[in-house]
This record gives sequence, structure tokens and C-alpha cells, in this order.
Amino acid sequence: MATADAVIIGGGVMGCGMLYNLATRGVTNTVLLEKDVLASGSTSKSQAILRMHYSNEVTTDLAWKSLELFKNFEDMTGMPSGYTQTGYFLIVDQENRAALRENVAMQKRIGVDTDIVTVEDVRDIAPMLATADNEAYAYEPQSGYADPYSVTTGYANAARELGAQVRSGTPVTGIDIDGDRVRAVLTADERIETDIAVIAAGPWSGPLLKSVGVDLHLQPVRHQVVMLRRPQDIVPDHPIIGDVVNDLSARPDTGNLTLVGVGEEDHSDPDTYNQGVDMPMVEKTFDALVNRMPGMSQALFRGGWSGLFTTTPDWHPVLDRIDGIDGLYCAVGFSGHGFKLSPMITQAMAEMITGEPTSVDISMLDLKRFEEGRLMKSRYSMQVLA
Ligand SMILES: Cc1cc2nc3c(=O)[nH]c(=O)nc-3n(C[C@H](O)[C@H](O)[C@H](O)COP(=O)(O)OP(=O)(O)OC[C@H]3O[C@@H](n4cnc5c(N)ncnc54)[C@H](O)[C@@H]3O)c2cc1C
Repeated sequence: MATADAVIIGGGVMGCGMLYNLATRGVTNTVLLEKDVLASGSTSKSQAILRMHYSNEVTTDLAWKSLELFKNFEDMTGMPSGYTQTGYFLIVDQENRAALRENVAMQKRIGVDTDIVTVEDVRDIAPMLATADNEAYAYEPQSGYADPYSVTTGYANAARELGAQVRSGTPVTGIDIDGDRVRAVLTADERIETDIAVIAAGPWSGPLLKSVGVDLHLQPVRHQVVMLRRPQDIVPDHPIIGDVVNDLSARPDTGNLTLVGVGEEDHSDPDTYNQGVDMPMVEKTFDALVNRMPGMSQALFRGGWSGLFTTTPDWHPVLDRIDGIDGLYCAVGFSGHGFKLSPMITQAMAEMITGEPTSVDISMLDLKRFEEGRLMKSRYSMQVLA
């Protein structure tokens, strides 16, 4: 009979990060079950932007502390995180100017390297960006992007070296609950007896949770990433931008590419959704990007992809134990901003599971906040900025 001290369901960045953080805390008799291959869900589709700009202290703190772990990732796991520093501009219109000011003040209190900058500063730092007097800008010099595949497999390999097991191609078919506690996690071929099961199944988490009687109203939302080749002589590089005015985010990638994230389309089925990009959206995105980076009018369309955000009613995750079922945990609902938070979230979850005090107070990301009306708030309309 197979037994484990903990079973993790899902091999995205969250599942693998938790496996690693449990292992470094001495919990190594663990199994991670992945229905496909590691990082094949939302993680592989991520734009992987690491920015600190949030409206809430907890997410700002998680992002800021995670950045340090991305920087030290190779020392931790033996694999590079691919952290690439580009700087990050958040750009808002007049209507959001006060919100930007309040957010930056809060972020500075936490210690984030960020500031409000003037139009002149933007022109100095990033001359390829078009600016306007009725806009406001925040700048984070240390922000950038990382490589989700390297981070996910880095966590998994390091956990394996400490004794954890990782099984790809192994869908979980059910969780056996006996009265008020977890007994086992089931696959087609196996029953793994365990006291602890952790649901980290990304866009597939909703049905799994419903199978044990929990409805978190998770909604998979399709988000497109348009890939453009920059005209190297005109726009050799650019910082990352979160552009509320033009409703897009854009980051540079290797090979003179720019990845532009756009769109939020509800009701997507994770097994059948369109993983490509829509040409009308590509045209709209191209025009919107050219508004911000006029030199990109010479850019070439190089394809793209779509992935799924898994949203909760407030677009913030649920990191909690499931009330009434001893040993059942969930780390779900990261919408479009889980990757940048993953190092600290997976550490905090491992701390919660092993009963250690958490290094970040994540209690406001609990499950009960929806029924108790304690939803997290964003100061912006662009929900992914949360
Ligand atoms: C287009 C796009 C752009 C994004 N951009 C950013 C960004 O710039 N910055 C940022 O911070 N975040 C971004 N995100 C969000 C971030 O990528 C996600 O929040 C994060 O990757 C979620 O990781 P996860 O492990 O929870 O989910 P996933 O990566 O989806 O992993 C879940 C895994 O569970 C497996 N699974 C599901 N059901 C079962 C089952 N029954 N049995 C076994 N395995 C199962 C799946 O196969 C999958 O591999 C973006 C997301 C998308 C889609």
C-alpha cells in the first residue's frame, strides 16, 4: 500500500514550489501528481512579469520578498530562475493618478524600490515610450521577468533530490475523505494513503474542490499573449510596461521579441479553449502598443498563444485549509499574477501545512473572506493589477 506524508495535486509552479518548501522543512515522504507534464498549465503560458505594484500590502510584500528569492534561486535549487532585470513602468491616466500615488506610498513603506516619476524622467529612462501630460508613472528599477519552466522544474528537481516523488502523466481522479479528514488521494491505478492533500491544480481546481463539496466560484479566464519582433534599429529594447491607459502589458524577450498581454475572456473550458491568438485582437493590440511605443509600427507579428487565469471573485488567490476537512489545503485562484508571488506563497503554504508561523501574514487570503464580505480591493479597473 502506498503512503505519503503529503500529496500535492498539480505540477505547476505552485505545486512544485510547495513540494520543495515542504522538503526543505524535512517533509520528504511526499508525492506530487501531475496529469500532464510539469508546468503544462497556466505556468507555461505565463508572461512571467515580476512587478511589485499592487494595491494591497500582503501582495506587495509577497512580490517584493519573492523577487529576492528569484534573484537567489540558483543558490537555493541549483537551477537558474532566468531573472532578467528590465525595470517596470506602471502608466495610468488622470482618473487613476491618486490611486497610483497611494499605492506607491504604501509600497515604499514596505520597502519596495519604487517611485513616482515625471514625464521627463520617463523620457530619460525609456525614450521609446510616448508620454502625455495627463498621465502618471511609477517606476520600479529592479523589476523584470523570469523563466517559469526553469523555476518550476528547478523546484521539482531540488525536491526530488531531497526525497520527494514527482509523477507526471498521472491524473488525480479523486480525494477520499472519511468524515472530517483526508484519507487518500486516488489515481486510476493507485490509492495513496495520506493525511494531507493539497489542491494546486490551476484552472482545473474548481471541479476538484467541488468534488469535496467546496465551491470557490473559480472562473478560468482566457488571456492572450501577442508576440512581436521589434525593429532592432528603432526599438532595440524597452522596459516592461503595465499600461492602464492602453489596457495592455508588454515585456521584452530574447531574440528581439516583445510579448504583449491582452484580453480577459470569461467562461473558458481548460480542456477545450482556443490556445491561439485571435487576429482582430492582434490588430487591436498592435495599434494600442504603437500608441505607447511608436517605433513598434515597424514590428512584425510572430504569433502568440493564450492561457488561462483562474480567477476568484476578487482576483486574489485562496491560500487556506479547507474548513471541516482535516488535512485538505488549497492554493488556487491566482488569476494573472501568481508567478511573481510563487516563491513566497509556496513557502508560506509549506509553513501553514507544517504548523510553523508563516513568514508573511497570508490570513487575509483565506477562504471565508467571500462569504464574510472581506474581499480584497484594487485601486484600479485593470483587474489583473489587483
Ligand atoms: C497568459 C498568462 C499570462 C500570465 N502572466 C503573468 C505574469 O506576467 N506575471 C505573473 O506573476 N503571473 C502571470 N500569470 C499567472 C501565472 O502564470 C499563474 O498564476 C501561475 O502559473 C499559476 O500556477 P499554478 O501552479 O497555480 O497553476 P498551473 O500552472 O495551471 O498548474 C496546475 C497543474 O495542475 C495540473 N492538474 C490539473 N488537474 C489535475 C489533476 N486532476 N491531477 C493531476 N494534475 C492536475 C495541470 O496539468 C497543471 O500542470 C499569467 C498567466 C497566464 C495564463
